[in-house]
Amino acid sequence: MISDDDASPHLTWTEEGEPRSGRFGDVYFSRDDGLAETRAVFLDGCGLPDAWAGRDCFTVAELGFGTGLNIAALLDLWRRTRPEGGRLHIFSIEGYPLTANEAARALGAWPELSEATQALIDNWPSATPGFHRVDLPGFDALLDLAVGDAAWALEQWSGAADAWFLDGFSPALNPGMWSPQVMTLIAARSAPGARLATFTVAGAVRRGLAEQGFVVEKRPGHGRKRERLEARLPSTFAPKPLPSIAVIGAGVAGASVVRALRDQGVRAVVFEAERPGAGGSGFPAALVTPRLDAGDAGIAALHAQALERAVHLYAVTPDAVTGQGVLQLPQAPRDAARFDKIARQPIWAEGAMAVLDEDAAATLAGEATGQGGLSMQGACAVRPAAVLSDWLGDSDMRSERVTRLARTGGRWRLIGETDAMLAEVDAVVVAAGWGSAVLLEGHDPTPRLSPVRGQADWVEGDVGVHPMAWGGYAVPTGQGALYGATHDRGDTDTAPRAEDSERNLATLRARLPGLATKIEAAGQAQSRAAVRATTPDRLPLAGGLDDGLYLLGGLGSRGFCVAAVLAEHVAALILNRPSPLPRDLAARVSPHRAAVVGNPLAPPSPAS
Ligand code: SAM
Repeated sequence: MISDDDASPHLTWTEEGEPRSGRFGDVYFSRDDGLAETRAVFLDGCGLPDAWAGRDCFTVAELGFGTGLNIAALLDLWRRTRPEGGRLHIFSIEGYPLTANEAARALGAWPELSEATQALIDNWPSATPGFHRVDLPGFDALLDLAVGDAAWALEQWSGAADAWFLDGFSPALNPGMWSPQVMTLIAARSAPGARLATFTVAGAVRRGLAEQGFVVEKRPGHGRKRERLEARLPSTFAPKPLPSIAVIGAGVAGASVVRALRDQGVRAVVFEAERPGAGGSGFPAALVTPRLDAGDAGIAALHAQALERAVHLYAVTPDAVTGQGVLQLPQAPRDAARFDKIARQPIWAEGAMAVLDEDAAATLAGEATGQGGLSMQGACAVRPAAVLSDWLGDSDMRSERVTRLARTGGRWRLIGETDAMLAEVDAVVVAAGWGSAVLLEGHDPTPRLSPVRGQADWVEGDVGVHPMAWGGYAVPTGQGALYGATHDRGDTDTAPRAEDSERNLATLRARLPGLATKIEAAGQAQSRAAVRATTPDRLPLAGGLDDGLYLLGGLGSRGFCVAAVLAEHVAALILNRPSPLPRDLAARVSPHRAAVVGNPLAPPSPAS
């Protein structure tokens, strides 16, 4: 990662209106013929559009996102020449991001690219370190932008590029972008037959690529530049058919997997024993909040990335969002210092986390809280039913309980209650909440999930509430307010209990007596209880468990924050496409990490 606190490009503009990096002392492109040069060097240089003919997914990786000009030109070409049903996956790396306004000014020079540039500018990724996924639905494309140093980003990326644009500033001004380490990683992250293009013909670059197995050729350059470089790996790409996929469970985990697969142009069949949201995702409202961690950078980064992705997707899901921003109140005296530390973490987009004093917290809460708090303006509250129905969409839903999975002839059989075979598929995703533990019992490795019963209560009526959490929580449902929740480990009973409703009200009254009074005045509360599945380290499980068998579970009470990005990760693993997650975060959520039983890779526990 770039550790430099100042990750600004120090942008200036030349008299000709060209953006120039003060950091590297070079222009991003020439304003006269920047677009023509992009097309000649990178698009033609990688043999586009011919190279993507007949492909259902084509991956382009770029070193040096800059103003986004190369990517806008790529999108424009893709839209005009893409193969029927094809998806374009773009991975680009930028250590010193421009703002959307700076990019808009730079790209304004090319009105012929306006649709592509507008799509990029409207969805301009956050400049925080890490990976950011940007949907470009009008182009059947998506962009994963890695903000950080090129070598770090290549190390972390799980994709395999069919085409490479090497567009760091010149090797003389910026050797770090062309180092032997970078060349080795480029080769390691290349698909068979990958093509590569760059503007430089520097000897070190040619030798570096050739050492990695690329066949390198100098070609006549564009405009004033005499020469440019093309390279390719001699192997050939062999297309694989798309797998048939079943998803078990139609809560937020299953619905997120269905959505992520659909986004990749792939349909799955869904098995749901009861109905969508029958488990932990069936409350009238849910908080979308990250797990805050002031000490473990991986946990913090995972949740920051998950939150950013989830909140974006909810914002474009009809009727999903019931409240923007969540006020976190302290649970312990040390929380004030913790909130300070968290708000200063570089992973949050500007304004996403702010420490509030007592007065500002009271204004948000609508009553005195006696304390300041952490305003998570990037978090939100959602209506789960709206999310599930939109994300499950018109998928093939089967109301059947899967009781067993059997591996036969390289495929998975889903077996139902009377031992009937319900389906046979290439890949199955177990996303059944606590039901996953039951279904995978005895499997090696067995995911170590444990049940936690949670009851929440809600009232309807004119109860204005800002989303808030303090151990307990209060959330707008759209028609009233929900508050809760109990947290009883090891309890799998889902019948609502009067004493739990009393506990929820008491928790609320102790912290927000004004809101408690309004809620009591709104009339009889309704109650619901569900079982959530958690893991010993409280991190979710997302990834492959066995050949063709995938798990998305252990989401605890953070399902609506983490499921979306984790489902995209699982979909990428199934389809052999680039994951949105950096490898180090993927490792933290892997079902093969130490927190599973029977994992030969797990270190022995101190007691054994
Ligand atoms: N492709 C860009 C466009 O279409 O506007 C122009 C790229 S500009 C020539 C090079 C880019 O590489 C700059 O945006 C610069 O900040 C970035 N960069 C330079 N060194 C880097 C490094 N070590 N890691 C990541 N990005 C780097």
